[in-house]
Amino acid sequence: MKVSRIDQLLKDKKIGLEVSVQGWVRTFRSNRFIALNDGSSIRNLQCVVDFEAFDEQQLKLITTGACIEVTGDLVASMGAGQEVEIQVKKLKIHGASDAEKYPLQPKKHSLEFLREIAHLRPRTQTFGAVFRIRHHVSFAIHQYFHQRGFFNVHTPIITGSDAEGAGEMFRVSTIDPANPPRNEDGTLNYKEDFFEKPVNLTVSGQLEAELFATALGKVYTFGPTFRAENSNTSRHLAEFWMIEPEVAFANLHDNMDLAEDFLQSVIKSVLENCREDLEFLSQRLVDEEKGLAAAERSSMSLIEKLEFVVNNSFRRVSYTEAIDILKNSKPNKKKKFNYIIEEWGADLQSEHERYLVEKHFQSPVILFDYPAKIKAFYMRLNEDGKTVRAMDVLFPGIGEIIGGSQREERYDVLKKKMEDFHIEPEELYWYLDTRRFGTCEHSGFGLGFERLVQFVTGMSNIRDVIPFPRTPGNCEF
Ligand code: ATP
Ligand code: MN
Repeated sequence: MKVSRIDQLLKDKKIGLEVSVQGWVRTFRSNRFIALNDGSSIRNLQCVVDFEAFDEQQLKLITTGACIEVTGDLVASMGAGQEVEIQVKKLKIHGASDAEKYPLQPKKHSLEFLREIAHLRPRTQTFGAVFRIRHHVSFAIHQYFHQRGFFNVHTPIITGSDAEGAGEMFRVSTIDPANPPRNEDGTLNYKEDFFEKPVNLTVSGQLEAELFATALGKVYTFGPTFRAENSNTSRHLAEFWMIEPEVAFANLHDNMDLAEDFLQSVIKSVLENCREDLEFLSQRLVDEEKGLAAAERSSMSLIEKLEFVVNNSFRRVSYTEAIDILKNSKPNKKKKFNYIIEEWGADLQSEHERYLVEKHFQSPVILFDYPAKIKAFYMRLNEDGKTVRAMDVLFPGIGEIIGGSQREERYDVLKKKMEDFHIEPEELYWYLDTRRFGTCEHSGFGLGFERLVQFVTGMSNIRDVIPFPRTPGNCEF
């Protein structure tokens, strides 16, 4: 018999149908009621066994965590909590579970504890919901771009250019660290290494995406990205996924329009397709805040927050305006910020970004036209000669979720910028070539996938939205 998935059975409610279901036991009550979950839904299927009809030894194997298969008729449920249940006729134990030692007892576990058993945490309600939503976000992103004529480009994971300066890089090498080949002067002889030169894991696919945008018009990347920064925060991973659209003939305003429409569409799609998981996570946050004083609780539920972002335009504010707001803000005057904003040109820290979004504007914000000095070399210089067409999208609870810009398309200006930033133009000759052969105005941005999943699921730590987090000192599983 064809095996059914629980989400479908609970949706169709075909009373009288004989079905088979495979899954993992959440609980087994009174030797009679199995709560079975197969991962397709946050909801369990209640399976009712008549213990007289089954072998006692077999029933003993139905413990929390065990993998079983049941076959029986779908019937209307007498009990509260579910509309339908299975009257079990046949029972198969795929894999018993050592009930005493199973780390996921049916009780509440802390997220920190669950991080230590990341190989089992997808079996919990919270992580099941998070990872189902993560899938939907990913799917919605591909769908968004595909429907608008963008092509997905797979940019390399191993890269020979270390010039981008987006962050500290991980070296990739086959050299034996205990016995490295050396030049006469004692330095490492990279000629003996696999690629015959130093190479790294990529920090961004942007430069390569630009090459494709100036050929295919509209492209996006969606791939793993690596940063070896030692930042142990709730928003940084050493290995994360980034989405980088790049569009020919687009200026900074087109870029802001794209970022806003893109985020709103993807979040809308999740609201439409992941209702039950979102409701579960929304309630989880309410429960978590129960101990807090009223003033410290969130003013909006998770779902309300997502709806707010979908239904309200983002505030667009220039860096210069933002600095004025911050300089005159209470936490700046009372020296409550860790970094006091003294003057134009200061780099914004996440505390400043969050003040603007959460306190001042109470809305997502797009900051644009940053000082050239604090942004990357490839951003287009404005007429004032001191700001560049950069934009950061800032979200409540997250801070920067997107960083992007209009790119410098003028050969001479770009070359001069590289020299100012101490980047050898020869090293990036292939990047400069796009400006020599048919250059055009173009723009793009990078979205941190996990930061978006964090926002959508309401999880406060980025380690809880990626299946196997890599952070300083942590590469288990
Ligand atoms: P931040 O200032 O928050 O460290 P950044 O300015 O270094 O980020 P960009 O180089 O602009 O980041 O990268 C584009 C996007 O990638 C960021 O807006 C963010 O969403 C995401 N991102 C950057 N670094 C990380 C990281 N270490 N872990 C997870 N996501 C990241
Ligand atoms: Mn950035």
